[in-house]
Amino acid sequence: MTDDTIFGKIIRREIPADIVHEDEHLIAFRDIAPQAPVHVLFVPKTPVATLNDLQSSQADIIGRLALAAANYARQQGFDEDGYRIVMNCNEHGGQTVFQIHMHLLAGAPLGRFGT
Ligand code: IMP
Repeated sequence: MTDDTIFGKIIRREIPADIVHEDEHLIAFRDIAPQAPVHVLFVPKTPVATLNDLQSSQADIIGRLALAAANYARQQGFDEDGYRIVMNCNEHGGQTVFQIHMHLLAGAPLGRFGT
């Protein structure tokens, strides 16, 4: 189970979320403050605070998140036009929830990222 972040509370159904996918390894739900027409977060159930904390033995966690995001994008018909996957790390990366997660942004042309 995820440590006690807001995402852990979502996994444990202690707070509501618009869940679009769940399996034994991860959960995916709509971001509460979407930055694109479609903005879904893919969160592993294994607690890992930041990408800095990921062990080499845990590489499968990132693979599963990426595959789940790509599968969801394909199901929703965004694969051909494309989409963006983002992981933020610590302050300069803009991370606000300290359980690793992958953002999927889709549904419109996205600007180039920068400052
Ligand atoms: P970060 O800034 O990369 O850590 O991303 C955290 C994301 O979680 C932000 O995009 C927030 O809008 C989102 N978020 C925070 N609380 C909730 C919630 O309760 N439900 C869904 N998304 C949330």
